[in-house]
Amino acid sequence: MNIKVLGAHNCERQNFKMVSLLVDGVLAIDAGALTSSLSLEEQRKIKALLLTHQHYDHVRDVPALAMSLFLGGAATRIYSIPAALDVLARHLLNDEIYPDFRQKPEQNPTLSFTVLKPNKAETIEGYTVLAVPVHHGVPTVGYQVTSGDGKSVFYTGDTGPGLAECWQRVSPQLLIIEVTSSDRFAEWAAGAGHLTPALLKQELESFQKVNGYLPRVVAVHMNPALEEEIAAEIAAVAQALGCSITLGYEGMQISI
Ligand SMILES: [Zn+2]
Ligand SMILES: [Zn+2]
Repeated sequence: MNIKVLGAHNCERQNFKMVSLLVDGVLAIDAGALTSSLSLEEQRKIKALLLTHQHYDHVRDVPALAMSLFLGGAATRIYSIPAALDVLARHLLNDEIYPDFRQKPEQNPTLSFTVLKPNKAETIEGYTVLAVPVHHGVPTVGYQVTSGDGKSVFYTGDTGPGLAECWQRVSPQLLIIEVTSSDRFAEWAAGAGHLTPALLKQELESFQKVNGYLPRVVAVHMNPALEEEIAAEIAAVAQALGCSITLGYEGMQISI
């Protein structure tokens, strides 16, 4: 399984894109940086897009991708929980801000929505996909994606602390987890449903307790302005736990 990090941050500026992952070129997770990172040919290969939640930094390229695919004569399927799909339909693809590509073109619409039930594994494009609830200000799920040869990645989406229950449902080789802020904002982060390196450490200890091992860890959704602080604090966490934790970056490729 090859995972490409298209966007690794929580906001966009030159050299920093919002969070988006691409698995084996065919399955995208979150849409913060899909269109600007991929050629039309690469966009056409996206057979499924999994959305973790409704926040703008995770869904904003859905209309842009849809227009690009529409003009390119292609289509894709979007999977998420009801709250996120409902917000997309009401606020972005509502025939006001942009066309409802679920009806356009009439014969073979560019987009279709599929509702996922949390904690129920589904087969999507040959992968086993499990949506697992995490802790954020709006309904949010992380996704475990498992390939036919048994390789698994779990991406948390945006989440605050308290993932013990989540860890009981997943056992990935690779954990892609959000770390939005540095530790001096820990109180804000925990309240807003985000993590810092110290909070990440607690969650990894909890993971180890539940699963008996630590996976390779890649942090994403960093605030670019805090990235240096986050990197230093994460290095200390990795050393304390004796595991590999790296910061994701735009263009990073990970093979498991
Ligand atoms: Zn969010
Ligand atoms: Zn976010």
